[in-house]
Amino acid sequence: MKYDVIIIGAGLGGLTAGAKLVKEGKRVLVVEQHSIPGGYATTFKKKDFLFEVGLHEMYGPAPGDMETKIFNELEVFNTVSFIRIPEFYRFVNGQIDVTIPHDPTAAAERLCNLFPGEADGIHAFFALLLKPRKKATENDLPDMSLGAFLDSIIHNDDLKLILLGNLGYYHDDPYTLSLAYYAAAQGSYFTGGASFIKGGSQQLSDYLMGYIRNHGGEVLLNHLVTGIITENQKAAGVLYKRKSNAVTDVSAARADEVIANTAMPNVAALLPAEYGEVLKNELQYQKTGASLLTVYLGFSKPLRELGYQSYSSFIYDNSVTSPREILNNNKDDFSRRNFTFVDYSQVDSALAPAGKGVGVICCIDYLDEWEKLDRKAYLARKKQVALTYIQRLEQIIPGVSGIIDYHDVATPATLKRYTLNPEGAVYGFAQSPSRKAINVSGLPDNLHFASAWGKTGGGFSGVIYSGYLCAMNILRKRRE
Ligand SMILES: Cc1cc2nc3c(=O)[nH]c(=O)nc-3n(C[C@H](O)[C@H](O)[C@H](O)COP(=O)(O)OP(=O)(O)OC[C@H]3O[C@@H](n4cnc5c(N)ncnc54)[C@H](O)[C@@H]3O)c2cc1C
Repeated sequence: MKYDVIIIGAGLGGLTAGAKLVKEGKRVLVVEQHSIPGGYATTFKKKDFLFEVGLHEMYGPAPGDMETKIFNELEVFNTVSFIRIPEFYRFVNGQIDVTIPHDPTAAAERLCNLFPGEADGIHAFFALLLKPRKKATENDLPDMSLGAFLDSIIHNDDLKLILLGNLGYYHDDPYTLSLAYYAAAQGSYFTGGASFIKGGSQQLSDYLMGYIRNHGGEVLLNHLVTGIITENQKAAGVLYKRKSNAVTDVSAARADEVIANTAMPNVAALLPAEYGEVLKNELQYQKTGASLLTVYLGFSKPLRELGYQSYSSFIYDNSVTSPREILNNNKDDFSRRNFTFVDYSQVDSALAPAGKGVGVICCIDYLDEWEKLDRKAYLARKKQVALTYIQRLEQIIPGVSGIIDYHDVATPATLKRYTLNPEGAVYGFAQSPSRKAINVSGLPDNLHFASAWGKTGGGFSGVIYSGYLCAMNILRKRRE
């Protein structure tokens, strides 16, 4: 059978594209190498606990935003529940402990009370973030880094660090993060608030897969795409095989359009050499973004019973005294590396049974440190990292180490193994100010991209937009 569209990968970008296309009557096949849909938007069960792989908080969905429009169209709200996150984040280091609300006026006021001499800079910061979204991404912003911008409006390094608390949602270094990209994304958290998905992000992924199937589309799990077929300068379909089968045991499926939800660099290897080289050359100017390490924690009781009340806390080490030190800290020993702690049980997340709790410790990390280890050294290092971070969490939440029922660690190698993302990257390419736009005009024009590696960047919202816009492009093109 010939499909209208084949999608390589059932991450959120691929699933959103697929759902929109089947809604418009297209015959769609999604091929996913993992046994469950969602890519990073997944959960897994251990003991009594359900652990979230790739969501701390997503922005919105708020009335009038694009996510709400997409979710309304795909009837997501009928089945999937979004729980509002009470505060944006808490920032903690040796000297400071401050919680930043989602409401920008309240956030600015809190910071002005703490740093009265910096009121002008604080207002300039929020004014930029609250500019209408379109404006922030247009060329009205100088091509500068977030770090350089903060240095130009604020003097106090503690204040800069507080504002950079959740930098890890985007990148590992404020001095190579595009201000325009950051302003659009961070601004959304301040204008639309944030949510967690009740029962974990798998709920959304499962829903979208169901939507595709219920509208006549096919989703093949446990199948790996091994090549993209091209004919007459067009993508003509894919070669795929059951994941457990031999490399020679491949089938072909044909389509008018092909969407890659798999990472862009992977596509270079899937294409015939002449196109693969074109894409590789184009991508040589892009820098792959950072990965994350997560320590999953199952608690025998909710942390509220220990008096803990924050959803998302960013714990900065005392050795970090200015934004210039953040990048080195992200490569420092885990006994000093900044981390975030998310206590999902602060909201009705439905990840733990009644009377228990679930949380994660998460930090920026890189694949190279893990890749070079043999199995024994890898497991020993995982054990050591968990121990180190649990001890550090104990300093913030006394008594927490005594109520841990279960813990495990996912490294960048784990992320890469489950999603095939190069370097275990979580947000695609680094969003640096000098980033060259990717020009795919040398590739077949019916090969499309919908993922964190595309124009809209990573994160839940970024890839949902990416999938939706990709579907819209195909629909427009096929109507012409
Ligand atoms: C620990 C962690 C915390 C995060 N926290 C947040 C957060 O709080 N808020 C937020 O907005 N974002 C967060 N993110 C980022 C967000 O989860 C990702 O940016 C986003 O989900 C990526 O979606 P994607 O569509 O690009 O696909 P991916 O999730 O990368 O999925 C790609 C899919 O393609 C499949 N695939 C790849 N190659 C092939 C092939 N050859 N054949 C078949 N299938 C293939 C993979 O198996 C995978 O399922 C977090 C991520 C992680 C890991």
